Amino acid sequence: MLFELQNVSKCYGETVALDIDSLQIEPASIVGFTGPNGAGKSTLLQIFAGLMAPTSGTVTFDGKPMYPNGGLEAMRKRVTYLAQNPVLFQMSVRRNVAYGLKLRGTPRTERRRAAEEALDTVGLLHLAHRGGHQLSAGERQRIALARAICLRPDVLILDEPTANVDREHVRVVENLIPSLLRDRGVSTILASHDERQIVRLSDRILALQSGRLVPPPFENVFEGEIQERDGAFFFVSPTAMEIEVVAHRTGKAKVAIRANEIILSAAPLKSSVRNSFRGKIASIDELPEGGVHVTVDVGLPLVAEITHHSLCEMSLAVGNEIFASFKSTGVLVF
Ligand code: ADP
Repeated sequence: MLFELQNVSKCYGETVALDIDSLQIEPASIVGFTGPNGAGKSTLLQIFAGLMAPTSGTVTFDGKPMYPNGGLEAMRKRVTYLAQNPVLFQMSVRRNVAYGLKLRGTPRTERRRAAEEALDTVGLLHLAHRGGHQLSAGERQRIALARAICLRPDVLILDEPTANVDREHVRVVENLIPSLLRDRGVSTILASHDERQIVRLSDRILALQSGRLVPPPFENVFEGEIQERDGAFFFVSPTAMEIEVVAHRTGKAKVAIRANEIILSAAPLKSSVRNSFRGKIASIDELPEGGVHVTVDVGLPLVAEITHHSLCEMSLAVGNEIFASFKSTGVLVF
């Protein structure tokens, strides 16, 4: 496990910014936190990054407690944190990028080479000689990312890596994060208020609200391919399940279906709903905030949210055969 949190809270005076019972972050993955402003995302990321001790609870990195201080030193060699509004120094871009290596005592030629490689990775090698203060917001974000990559971390922690930057920079950063995992094994933990970005990038989606972990906004997120047939678009999963969707392109995609958009019925629905699948109920989970999650195995595990009243009325039980239906307009394509 990379990080493990147990009973962690963080208070600023009277404000409880974070209150997490238990959380584990696995290696070799992209984990995305979403939630509105003030949800506690930055606070949590700063605790992961070793910048701030929690008010209570335990945080471990690679099995070693980080606070008080024990595991911090070892963690900092492997984890690099990028703040929401990174500051660049009044020196050339290349020296900015190499700065962390300089602090680590890396010889000059080696850090020059590493800085240029990192700048190339973020597509900004041509700015190597530019002053750190002569840059757009997007360029600053990407150069700060190059500075982080340059340290060759095992884990990158990114706080709102594309806030206030234009589409071109968003595209570069969003392509870079999965490629760092694929090519160099770099795990990323990121926070963004942009739910769609979190879905696009993350292997695991977590949501925070008022400092607490809450069910993520999209329960049914699947990866596959969009195909077109006779003017209609279909999402095809690796298990060959087909879902009709509204799309304007083909190729690799993620789709998400909100759990409350899925209708459960004992018989097939006679309606305009384009997607209806027969499956077996795999699990039934009562939600702490009310409501029930019914997972139906239809070739993919589809989670439907229903009321407790519906659960009783339909006498649903694990193992029952049931139909799960939803509109193609209810499927979000990313
Ligand atoms: P997010 O990153 O999701 O926007 P934050 O972690 O920044 O959320 O903030 C969580 C809560 O803690 C908010 O209510 C915020 O106002 C409060 N907070 C954050 N930093 C401080 C601070 N340094 N002093 C006082 N309150 C803070």
